[in-house]
Amino acid sequence: MLGIMMKGEKESVTVTIKGDGPMGTLVAVADHGKIRACTDNPKVEIPLREDGKLDVGGAVGRHGRMSVIKDLAMRKNYIGQSELVNGEIAMDFAQYFTASEQQPSLVALGVLVNGDMVLKAGGLLIQPLPGCPDEVIDQLELRSPMFADISREMTFAPIEQLCDDWFRGMEPRVLERTPISYTCTCSRDRMEKALISMGEKDLQSLIDDDQGAELVCHFCHSKYFFSTEQLRTLMKEAHKK
Ligand SMILES: [Zn+2]
Repeated sequence: MLGIMMKGEKESVTVTIKGDGPMGTLVAVADHGKIRACTDNPKVEIPLREDGKLDVGGAVGRHGRMSVIKDLAMRKNYIGQSELVNGEIAMDFAQYFTASEQQPSLVALGVLVNGDMVLKAGGLLIQPLPGCPDEVIDQLELRSPMFADISREMTFAPIEQLCDDWFRGMEPRVLERTPISYTCTCSRDRMEKALISMGEKDLQSLIDDDQGAELVCHFCHSKYFFSTEQLRTLMKEAHKK
């Protein structure tokens, strides 16, 4: 949702959540509808919560920080930070919008899983425009329990119909549709740049090992192999910098 809110074509947003839970740091990047994410430890297994839901807060941790970096292409990056509320993501984002962007927001998020399969995932982010009457905000807050279990609701009806129900009397309208997909933007060129940025000393130690180097993308697990000879070429590039 943050990615789709970015206006410029080349703009992107990176969210980093550093909690004290077993999952470690979580990073998600979105440029418009293209999204990728990874965590330090993606194979965390913890029991479900008492209400049968995923214990997201238990995996992320109850304490920690969230940071949002918006790459605004031609302009200076925007960086915002806030403390985690409970590691359940939705409340953490609500807190982030209020504390860091001074934008009070209503956030509902949900993922419905069956074993390893994601059955439904959805979210709702409501932000009042300037001059929004208090009665409207009160109405939205009153209705918020209706979309508390958003992923389960989505198994019964399409999101458009749910929005019609949830916001009945408020004339909801669809202004735009954006497809979303898990898409990585890694490339050999990017991996070369990463190697060059390691600097001459680290590159030299890779060359000395004489085994080449294999880089694995955190987001999509694509592998990129560089031979000792190729590393030498990159070292010349690093030397020029
Ligand atoms: Zn990748």
